[in-house]
Amino acid sequence: MTNLIDGRAIAEKVYVDLRNEIAQLKSKGVTPGIAVVLVGDDPASRAYVRSKDKMSRELGLHSVKLELPTTTSQEELVARVDELNRDPQVHGILVQSPPPKQIDEAAIVRALDPRKDVDGFHPLNVAKLAMGDETAFVPCTPLGVQRLLIESKIDVAGAHVVVLGRSMIVGKPVALLLMQKAKGGDATVTVAHSRTKNLEEVTRSADILIAAIGRAHFVKENHVRDGAVVIDVGINRVEDKSDKRGYRLVGDVAFDEVAPKCKAITPVPGGVGPMTIAMLMSNTVKAAKMFSAA
Ligand code: NAP
Repeated sequence: MTNLIDGRAIAEKVYVDLRNEIAQLKSKGVTPGIAVVLVGDDPASRAYVRSKDKMSRELGLHSVKLELPTTTSQEELVARVDELNRDPQVHGILVQSPPPKQIDEAAIVRALDPRKDVDGFHPLNVAKLAMGDETAFVPCTPLGVQRLLIESKIDVAGAHVVVLGRSMIVGKPVALLLMQKAKGGDATVTVAHSRTKNLEEVTRSADILIAAIGRAHFVKENHVRDGAVVIDVGINRVEDKSDKRGYRLVGDVAFDEVAPKCKAITPVPGGVGPMTIAMLMSNTVKAAKMFSAA
């Protein structure tokens, strides 16, 4: 029997806790604030920014949505980031990726005040994560993956976790997080990627397999051992004429053939996705708390 990990239900649980924490902060005169910056008009980015702004408002956060034209220069964007760095009502700043090609994204990330870097991409936060410093802002999707595992009572301590993918957004930080000597950590982690030899053998040795490669239905039944836990981070569009959008979203895992073998598995959509925004909200509340304690 497959045990489906319901990301939407777990995200709702996170929001219940967050509402309490936000109420406590507000009672001390602090309203957590988040600014989301969108440069250009990429439809997927626009949709992400809209849902982040909507959730911030639903939680009663101070929410700033900054929409800048595609032609925005590096200097203009740095200047806007700097204004937000200095705005005392804003505790978290996120610049939606990917920006237009004239923008040096890494330089924008470095321009962020690391205390407001709720995406966890600033070099200082990456270093803090590697060092196990609790004041780190950890990227939202890896944090969401860890929270899904904790809430589903899947013990990662001592488990062999195989992470498929080594990006700075998902693969590397999720590996660092799950190997930490801390609650929700202590895993034995293997990171696999496009140059890994005998990939099926590697993934089949996983107690917990985390797929984050961006290839629709790549992980097949023969990649997974019986009784494994599978976390599917992938979000891929595949053509679907029966859907009014002309496409549907699928994960990196061939769910129908893999799910029957699993102890637990996340669906796409409705698995990791809802947790990413929940963790962004959680990081913003953490930032507000750290500022108010400072
Ligand atoms: P990315 O930057 O493109 O990285 C993909 C990684 O997968 C790379 O390390 C690449 O290896 C590896 N890879 C690609 N093809 C492979 C193959 N055939 N075999 C083994 N490894 C392979 O992607 P990303 O930003 O990490 O995102 C991964 C997926 O997660 C995407 O579908 C994305 O949409 C999704 N995502 C979802 C959320 C969410 O909220 N649920 C958030 C972020 C991302 P090399 O390094 O060797 O090239």
